[in-house]
Amino acid sequence: MSQDAIVIGGGPAGLLAASKIAEKGHSVLVLEEHPEIGKPDHCAGLLSSSGLKSLGLKPPDEVVQNTVSGARIYAPSGHSILVERGRREALVIDRRKFDSWLAQEASSKGVIISTNCKVVEISKQKDGLRTIQTKNQNYQVPITVIAEGARSVLTKKTGLSTLSKGSKYPAYQYEVKGIEIEENLVEMFYGRRLAPGFFAWIIPLGGGRARVGLASKNKSKIRLDAAMRNHPIIKKRLKNAVVERGMGGIVLVSKPISRLSADGLVVVGDAAGMVKATTGGGVIVGGLTALEAGRTANEAFQEGNHSRKILSKYDNRCRSQFRRELEIMYLTQKALSSLTDKGLDSVIKDAHELGLLSIVRKEGDMDLQRRVILKLISDPRMVLVGLKAVRYINPFL
Ligand SMILES: Cc1cc2nc3c(=O)[nH]c(=O)nc-3n(C[C@H](O)[C@H](O)[C@H](O)COP(=O)(O)OP(=O)(O)OC[C@H]3O[C@@H](n4cnc5c(N)ncnc54)[C@H](O)[C@@H]3O)c2cc1C
Repeated sequence: MSQDAIVIGGGPAGLLAASKIAEKGHSVLVLEEHPEIGKPDHCAGLLSSSGLKSLGLKPPDEVVQNTVSGARIYAPSGHSILVERGRREALVIDRRKFDSWLAQEASSKGVIISTNCKVVEISKQKDGLRTIQTKNQNYQVPITVIAEGARSVLTKKTGLSTLSKGSKYPAYQYEVKGIEIEENLVEMFYGRRLAPGFFAWIIPLGGGRARVGLASKNKSKIRLDAAMRNHPIIKKRLKNAVVERGMGGIVLVSKPISRLSADGLVVVGDAAGMVKATTGGGVIVGGLTALEAGRTANEAFQEGNHSRKILSKYDNRCRSQFRRELEIMYLTQKALSSLTDKGLDSVIKDAHELGLLSIVRKEGDMDLQRRVILKLISDPRMVLVGLKAVRYINPFL
């Protein structure tokens, strides 16, 4: 069987890269290990409206479960701030339906999708082609897109650097019905005891339903169950709620891997560490970089040269558009998680009292947060917040 390109992984990053390559008439095969695209799902489904627009995506009504206009952020003490900009900031989508819709879109552009096809080996031939091996089949292709998600097993086999073990945080969430919550606001709960290294969330789905989840450095399901029983606000929200289903996954708190391409190969999405470390969100940023990977692959086909020399344009584009952005989010997340609960309280309370939220409202962007972070840290009022918070850096780190 001969294809121009093979994409390993039928998640959003893989499907978007495949569509981009197929748009130019190249033959693309997506290999997905699971029997069905979109299943099993493990995502909270919160995607910014602006991010979807920049991906050129308008999900159909049956994919969209709710729209939200902002977030209420809770400090460990229960004190909260509201980050809202008075418009429909984000959509809450059903990831099973979203991925399956992306697969239909890709198929309509000529992409072939093979499910139940786990790639077990990837190797380089003398002529620069890659051999991709599944249980039943071998393929030789000029360009391979690795979109295997956070596991990053195959990326390692190619010799490229991979995501560190410490950047993969276990996550667990429940879908519940009968919850008492404002239906247009996401709620985020911080606290070193509640969720060390990350946070807990409630994402309203409309009609009294919600996703209630938590990610942290360890024991996320145990911590989530405890929070649902004991956290004063989460417990209150769930007073009359019934759990419909639970799901686990890996949230990445990472920066991009150092090299994204090699001869005949590009790595995209979670596998490349293309996530916002502040929230673990990777659908939009991973999608944007996957489109860049697809565009670069098309240029390589046009030049008849799929060596690293040409494909490294993908690295350069990601470097100039996203890398610094994502690295700053990573450092911010690390700084926040180095604070004790008292430090988190003081940052959230002081930022509110000193009026710093107006910067967030004016400059905030759910996906590209560098501008707001740089504005905040260059504000003299933030120096005060920082000086107070410095006392609360965890001495054991
Ligand atoms: C609990 C939770 C909540 C989240 N909430 C959000 C959110 O609200 N918003 C957001 O933007 N992001 C969120 N994320 C992150 C988001 O899910 C990922 O960033 C996104 O799915 C990455 O897309 P991807 O295509 O790179 O990888 P994935 O979606 O993981 O897709 C990778 C695909 O590759 C397949 N695969 C892997 N190895 C092989 C192989 N060897 N052969 C064949 N197929 C293979 C897998 O089966 C999978 O289908 C959340 C993650 C978790 C865990």
